[in-house]
Amino acid sequence: MKSNGVLDHRDMYRLPWSLPDNAISWLEPTSACNLSCDGCYRENVASSHKPLDVVRKEVELFLELRNSDGISIAGGDPLMHPEIVEIVRMIADMGVKPILNTNGGKLTMELLRELKKAGAFGFTFHIDSKQGRPKWKDKNELDLNDLRLQYAQMLAEVGGLSCAFNSTVYEDTLHYVPGMVEWAQKHIDIVHVMVFILYRAAAPQLPFDWYAGGKKIDMGNLVYSESRERKIDLKAQDVVNEIRKKYPDFMPCAYLNGTEKPNSFKWLLTGRIGTKEKIHGYVGSKFMETIQTMHHMMKGRYLAYSTPSMTSLGRSMMLLSAVDKGMRRTAASYLSSVFTNPMDFFKGLHYQSVMIIQPVDFLPNGLQNMCDGCPDMTVYNGELVWSCRMEELKQFGCWVRTVPISQQ
Ligand code: SF4
Repeated sequence: MKSNGVLDHRDMYRLPWSLPDNAISWLEPTSACNLSCDGCYRENVASSHKPLDVVRKEVELFLELRNSDGISIAGGDPLMHPEIVEIVRMIADMGVKPILNTNGGKLTMELLRELKKAGAFGFTFHIDSKQGRPKWKDKNELDLNDLRLQYAQMLAEVGGLSCAFNSTVYEDTLHYVPGMVEWAQKHIDIVHVMVFILYRAAAPQLPFDWYAGGKKIDMGNLVYSESRERKIDLKAQDVVNEIRKKYPDFMPCAYLNGTEKPNSFKWLLTGRIGTKEKIHGYVGSKFMETIQTMHHMMKGRYLAYSTPSMTSLGRSMMLLSAVDKGMRRTAASYLSSVFTNPMDFFKGLHYQSVMIIQPVDFLPNGLQNMCDGCPDMTVYNGELVWSCRMEELKQFGCWVRTVPISQQ
């Protein structure tokens, strides 16, 4: 890190995820959804449930083309699919961790138990204030912590499930992020991952012409087009700066860079260790390198999600102090805490991840800076494609290119 707090990618571990060898793949069994999120990049199509044999073929394609530890089952909302339990069972039977990425609206305790029985490994709940949730209108991100807690408690009651939350971050909600990170700390025993996704849109007002093949096109019809004046280029560093207002030591340890800019942060991962009352510290790059390498050596795949029993092993993880500076600092803080107050020894020490995702950036020269080693590749027409831009293929048959207006 530079002295002004600016992150330097050379201080961090570049996650080893690539096109053929990636911790995650992204399955969309349906495009149907029961909400209408402001920042959504998928056209909501009610009659879009894929039959089981199509879903199976897509999973087989993932397994043929890439080593994946987990499959994010997304959409649309995957719980809209009438055969979601079967889909989860099929993925688990194929030896991959099924992770449900849902808004949670259709989740009941009964369905949750069924999904767990079918082999669900975990859930990522997408919850933010711009989803038009019927009972949560006019509520802000901090009010929504109550809803997050309901889902975290449901998962904790069933047990053995990884619990993650993601939220799209907009310019006017950025200031709520530290409060959400603080809430996650208070529930570090049952909340394992927090993800912040920066709002992006294809804005026709950008200084580009938009081309599909050789043809100039109107981007205005795409679901992720935005004609309002809105900030669409928040950066991962902005979120880090905001979090540091509450957690000055907040320090990411690993990243995925952009396809066009090696020093841009597209996925920025922070691992912290603490109790509900105190964060003792942040793991460093060597910790993450050791975990990813060991997992790959033992299982042939990079690690996507951990079980709750693993994340509760904060004390055992301190053995990695031998190789990791961040962990040494964390262990020192923990030991001093226990020395001052021996009762602290009996408090659970947990690991929690905070991920910041910075999707596509439009560079002044017209290049689009994507996530290098994109984990969220999905299947379209038998090919792996970026899920965040799939609507371009559906509407125009090819990727849309941006050409600076002044260069023509
Ligand atoms: S390139 Fe798009 S789909 Fe892939 S990880 Fe980045 S934002 Fe997600």
